[in-house]
Amino acid sequence: MMQELNITKSPENRMGEIYRCCENPQITYLAPVNINIDEKTIGTVDVWRCAICKKKFCEEKQLGIESISEIVGMPKIEDGEKWGVIVSKLQKGKDKWKLVKLKQNGIIKYETVDEKILDLKIEDYKIVDGYHTSFLVEDHLNRAVEI
Ligand SMILES: [Zn+2]
Repeated sequence: MMQELNITKSPENRMGEIYRCCENPQITYLAPVNINIDEKTIGTVDVWRCAICKKKFCEEKQLGIESISEIVGMPKIEDGEKWGVIVSKLQKGKDKWKLVKLKQNGIIKYETVDEKILDLKIEDYKIVDGYHTSFLVEDHLNRAVEI
């Protein structure tokens, strides 16, 4: 058990001992997408890409918070899913956005700040809802998105 904890914390092992996107992953940093409110950056989505299979991996970073997740390796994304950011019109500041995986069509279970689970409808990788919008990370690489 102790040994497993050590592995989790070792930076060399963050790139996919557990989940491998392909047989010989070569994952490098691709680009950031900044999340802005009133032209101020409040957070960032870091985008990584595997040079072999071209899959992308994203990590959400809230400004001023060092690390919010204890994910080992790259976060898994299924074929047919894309990284997206959901923007809530009901929230303010850092609670206004969240990194998610969007299917092309269907329903996403979205957990709000007050821990309610909402069913949001997705059409062509986009949230269709009166109080929430979304955008795809891949459409905004190296740019800032005002939310
Ligand atoms: Zn790969």
